[in-house]
Amino acid sequence: MNEFNLSFKSDVPREKDFDKSVLYDIAIIGAGPGGLTAAIYAGRSRLNTIVLEKVSLGGLITVSDWVENFPGFPDGISGEELGERFRKQAEKFVGKIILNEVMNIRKENNQFYLNTEKGEIKAKSVILSTGSEPVKLPVSEEEKFRGKGISYCATCDAAFFKDKTVCVIGGGDTALHEAIYLSKFARRVILLHRRGELRAAKMLQEELFANPKVELKLNSIPVNVFGGKKVEEIVIENVQTHQKEALQVDGIFGAIGEKPNSDLVKNLVELTEKGFIKTDVNKETSLKGLFAVGDVTDAPLKQVVTACADGAIAVTSVEQYIKNLER
Ligand SMILES: Cc1cc2nc3c(=O)[nH]c(=O)nc-3n(C[C@H](O)[C@H](O)[C@H](O)COP(=O)(O)OP(=O)(O)OC[C@H]3O[C@@H](n4cnc5c(N)ncnc54)[C@H](O)[C@@H]3O)c2cc1C
Repeated sequence: MNEFNLSFKSDVPREKDFDKSVLYDIAIIGAGPGGLTAAIYAGRSRLNTIVLEKVSLGGLITVSDWVENFPGFPDGISGEELGERFRKQAEKFVGKIILNEVMNIRKENNQFYLNTEKGEIKAKSVILSTGSEPVKLPVSEEEKFRGKGISYCATCDAAFFKDKTVCVIGGGDTALHEAIYLSKFARRVILLHRRGELRAAKMLQEELFANPKVELKLNSIPVNVFGGKKVEEIVIENVQTHQKEALQVDGIFGAIGEKPNSDLVKNLVELTEKGFIKTDVNKETSLKGLFAVGDVTDAPLKQVVTACADGAIAVTSVEQYIKNLER
């Protein structure tokens, strides 16, 4: 079972190294929808661009079974195919994207130095598009059972739960997407949410309520998970009555929010309390020349369409920034 592993799906070889002597105009960190859209715009603006990705081209959307709200696809499109299309379009304009994790960033004399697993990269500007990852479930047994019944990705792991009982925790769009997807495999899906109402889009709620395999447990939180080698039981508590209940389940899917991948810049730029990067309307952070886009930022809506829009805006801002540097 996956532990939220985005496997590298592209068939394109990634051996091509980068030129360490070059001072790039932009280094884009992260090849999800935000970073790949930035790459398309940067390439078309003839900016000398390098795109670095640590795991999988296409980003988080590639784990989504079906995307219905990205404009231009009236019948929907699988997340994997959408990511692959972003990748192809970006590589058309900037060449092969390099699989290389960025470990550290510093700025000296108006130049950025990126310390990566394959050596140092120099750039005049940086676009950070590193996205976010799921918040881990707040039960003390989380680590013990992660990958052994506790999962954060239904698309990766649903097939392991054919005809089984699973519990999805969360009340937003992602939780409902996960519950609906799991119902194609599991015999019974229990959706657990700490509030009395779901937060997800109304259309998703309607689809969920009409699904006979899904059962709701509102005003409830997880307390403990029990099992041998794998998850066997979850104990939940009703936050109003404080009554506890043990549910026999084979799998537990967490969808209670996202943690931004902002550690790289936590000592360089201003962050919100939850660690999201603060940006202005030009997608510039509090450090000149460092821009941030998509899910890693404090944007109120975290979706593919907003990450793409951010990527386009950031490149326009980078062009202006570089012009000013050269004056
Ligand atoms: C199950 C699920 C279903 C979803 N369904 C929808 C939907 O239907 N419609 C919709 O619009 N949105 C949906 N989303 C949300 C959507 O996937 C995100 O909003 C979008 O992918 C954000 O794009 P991004 O470019 O900001 O970040 P990501 O897509 O998260 O990409 C960030 C990339 O940066 C890389 N990275 C991180 N750190 C480093 C580093 N140090 N060095 C190099 N690379 C790094 C990561 O590996 C990753 O590939 C869904 C999300 C999930 C989990």
